Amino acid sequence: MKFNTKAIHAGQSPEETSGAVMPPVFQTSTYVQQAPNVHKGYDYARVGNPTRTALEALIAGLEGAKEAVCFASGVAAMDAIMKMFRPGDHIVASDDLYGGSYRLFTQVFEPYGIEFSFTDLSDTKVVERALRPSTKMIWIETPTNPLLKLVDIRALTALASTRGILTAVDNTFASPYLQQPLELGADMVMHSTTKFLGGHSDVIGGAVATSDEELLEKLRFQVKTTGAVPGPMDCYLILRGIKTLAVRVQRSVENAATLAEQLQQHPAVGHVIYPGLASHPGFDLAKRQMKGPGAMISFRLKDDSMDAAVRVMQRTQLFALAESLGGVESLISHPASMTHGSIPREIREKVGVTDSLIRLSVGIEDADDLWEDLEQAL
Ligand SMILES: *Cc1c(COP(=O)(O)O)cnc(C)c1O
Repeated sequence: MKFNTKAIHAGQSPEETSGAVMPPVFQTSTYVQQAPNVHKGYDYARVGNPTRTALEALIAGLEGAKEAVCFASGVAAMDAIMKMFRPGDHIVASDDLYGGSYRLFTQVFEPYGIEFSFTDLSDTKVVERALRPSTKMIWIETPTNPLLKLVDIRALTALASTRGILTAVDNTFASPYLQQPLELGADMVMHSTTKFLGGHSDVIGGAVATSDEELLEKLRFQVKTTGAVPGPMDCYLILRGIKTLAVRVQRSVENAATLAEQLQQHPAVGHVIYPGLASHPGFDLAKRQMKGPGAMISFRLKDDSMDAAVRVMQRTQLFALAESLGGVESLISHPASMTHGSIPREIREKVGVTDSLIRLSVGIEDADDLWEDLEQAL
């Protein structure tokens, strides 16, 4: 089955008792047993729920994984992965990381004795130097947030596997439609299903997909034991969202490519960061590794000040000022004061999150209307 067909059919079959085409929302906490431990595969809803099973089968299908495990949020999915490690274990992660991931690693797991190095994963030689005998995993985010740096998944997984190091890819920014990390050699792929997979800004969720039986067992143990499970209605909403993933992402990418070109021409705009522009250092890698350059754009203004950026964001009508991404509606945000507001200015500027940096999540509206909105705001 190819991707567009999988998005509708992978792991899905009509419900047995009624023939319902969509899996029902099994709103139950427990299941009747014929005799102790004799049941139809479900005993308690923290451990499993048929609506969740349908979603897990669909996500596994999209990522080419044996199975997927769903969680109550993206950070809960990462939390379950991190709990596989023990004090003294070392993890190498990107220095341009989703803020919530950085907070989880440094404020929850570092105090428990897990060690982290944050490095530029776009340079394989730099990564090699960061590895230690105790390194257990490389945590990859690509494209990164908000600077849209690209990391060569195949090169890093090749480096890691020769040394018995696990690799996990946060595939939230690309979505499985544009990038399939397991095929490129990664051991695990993680999603905030809140974003492109859900696609309608109406639900929070997370998932990890893998074909490694041992990792799957550890993830299932975590979800059962620590309980960060998604509710059946949330699973249903994400499953419903995924059915249109391919057409939504395709349109968003078309719109983003158009807007990136137009932004580049505008006299008030400084540097435009978009992996589909020839000026982007990851332009060739994006072509190799992704089916399209994504729906996210970051750009700086010629007047690189907070005031200038805030003025633009207050003038847009269609682009709503909000955190998050990956929905049908276009969003605009200001990393320096929003997602990266707690990072000291010098550090933030050193990695490239300067005062006027603006991040766009491009939705599926008409590109002409989106450009008109940006142009009047600029
Ligand atoms: C949103 C996001 C997360 C966290 O997911 P939640 O569903 O908000 O918990 C992790 N990684 C990336 C790249 C994200 O965009």
